[in-house]
Amino acid sequence: MPTQIKNAIWDVLVDCLLTSETREMIEKMQKKVTRIGVMTSGGDAPGMNACVRAVVRTGLYHGLEVFGIMRGYQGMIENDIIPMDSRSVANIIQRGGTILKTARCKEFTTPEGRKKAYENLQKHGINGLVVIGGDGSFKGAQIFSNEYDIPCIGIPGTIDKDIAGTDFTIGFDTAVNTAIDAIDKIRDTADAHDRLFVVEVMGRDAGYIALYSGIGTGAEHILIPEKKTDVEQILSSLQEKERRKKLVNILVVAEGDDFGGGNELANLIKERVPGFDIRVAILGHIQRGGSPSSMDRLIASRMGYSAVECLLEGRHNVMVGIVNNRMHFTPLDKAVKAKQRISEEWMKIVKILAS
Ligand code: ADP
Repeated sequence: MPTQIKNAIWDVLVDCLLTSETREMIEKMQKKVTRIGVMTSGGDAPGMNACVRAVVRTGLYHGLEVFGIMRGYQGMIENDIIPMDSRSVANIIQRGGTILKTARCKEFTTPEGRKKAYENLQKHGINGLVVIGGDGSFKGAQIFSNEYDIPCIGIPGTIDKDIAGTDFTIGFDTAVNTAIDAIDKIRDTADAHDRLFVVEVMGRDAGYIALYSGIGTGAEHILIPEKKTDVEQILSSLQEKERRKKLVNILVVAEGDDFGGGNELANLIKERVPGFDIRVAILGHIQRGGSPSSMDRLIASRMGYSAVECLLEGRHNVMVGIVNNRMHFTPLDKAVKAKQRISEEWMKIVKILAS
């Protein structure tokens, strides 16, 4: 049989045997990513720079051209896009904030805004995106990718550790350490004056910063959004402490606790347990800044590296996460804000250790 006919029969046979999934995978791999854009978007978090560095250097290592998109989707719409080389990310692994800046961009939520963004990406020939941000940024990436067929990989960068599909988010560990450092200092002054301090930490929907920093500083009570706050139980425990002259107490409250923030709690204690000398400290934005911890630098580097590998492997629209110390990929539309369950055991530990 002539070779041409043999090849034709072979092609038909292979075509019949391929499943639709395999065919889709081959198609994706044929659309090779050559120029990638990286951006930080939404709320900032320490470790974002370490992640940008990892994306840029991994991309360059694989022969890709890498572009930095300034101020998230705003920069995409305004064509604020700059070529990155290895030197452009030198000396940033230890820096908080983000050299690419970050922003919230209303215009990107409109089809017109996203069209402008796409046209700008085309001007630079960018055919793959890495978005470091929170679930809002991932939503934007998902919609954009569906409209314009540009593969997007998300990396969870948020101090709150509230994204489904990963045990860690970039910035959480640093934020906890910052809170611990501040609460330790507060305890020194609380101890000197026999005072009760209510310390409010960040966490509108998630109480992990409060839980970890509270346990790490030996707080007497920890109030988090995931658990209904039993104020009466806290008040009676404080009354009992007042009776035995335990006047130094630290209460850590997540800003999103169902009872309210630090001020509300302090006012109620003042009213019901007047024997305490009470002060409130709201830690605020210091939790977002500062040099990233070793943990955040490590996960940022690992996730940044993995995101580029994903694009090269032809993966579409997934968030890179780490689960049980292994890389884990979650479709962007499932990488949503998630209240992770805080086990009863944690709350028991808090109670036992603070007695
Ligand atoms: P985070 O990423 O920290 O959750 P945001 O929720 O503010 O922060 O989202 C960051 C940006 O992502 C928004 O300013 C907007 O530009 C984009 N974005 C969020 N939701 C959508 C959406 N539904 N459609 C398009 N873009 C979105």
